[in-house]
Amino acid sequence: MTHRLFSTALVLLLLVAGIALATDLPSDRPYVTFNAAKQDAMTPEMAINKLKAGNRRFVDGTMHNRDLSAQAQRTASAQYPFAVILSCLDSRSAPEIIFDQGVGDLFVARVAGNVISDDILGSFEFATKVSGSKVIVVMGHSACGAVMGACDGVELGHLTGLLAKIMPAVDATPVPADAQRNASNADFVEAVTAANTKLQVAEILRQSPILKALVDQGEIKVVPAMHNLSTGEVEFL
Ligand SMILES: [Zn+2]
Repeated sequence: MTHRLFSTALVLLLLVAGIALATDLPSDRPYVTFNAAKQDAMTPEMAINKLKAGNRRFVDGTMHNRDLSAQAQRTASAQYPFAVILSCLDSRSAPEIIFDQGVGDLFVARVAGNVISDDILGSFEFATKVSGSKVIVVMGHSACGAVMGACDGVELGHLTGLLAKIMPAVDATPVPADAQRNASNADFVEAVTAANTKLQVAEILRQSPILKALVDQGEIKVVPAMHNLSTGEVEFL
């Protein structure tokens, strides 16, 4: 009798342990990396909402506890990222982290000042037309050194040509009569950064007929956003 009780207790213990093990597996739901069916079923709006929810978790300190090694193994043979992010080179504006996404969830292009180029446009055409991502986010961030450099007319090696791509945003941003049009004016820098994300979105649609057609067909959205380094929040403009 004692033996049977012990056996029953042992079985119950193993069952409970098994359930705990199953629910605690960090690599599984609800953090699964995407498959083709899930990617297909997603709309551009859903993709944006998924990014917003991930950013909320980042800001709140409730990020998913993923098993990134397991995700790497499971996505090794195929990828179905739901979103594309063009962000600044800045070390603090890392898309996978601030949107709380895992391996295989995002295509990411990064360059100082989050400006486009032919190579980046080609990458975006691949990411959406070929690989099925639903949204392209052009994300600037607060206190951007590249934008400050453009505001101050900095010239340095290859940086000069890169900052020239931000100049249309500098030129298009008004300031009050008594305010400075340079990097010492934080409000000006912020306004130029936001203007730059919008201008880059416009340039993407102007320069890529493929991406423009996908937008017109409702297959994707291309949207500007701003990342606040202090709060961690991403605002979709
Ligand atoms: Zn920056």
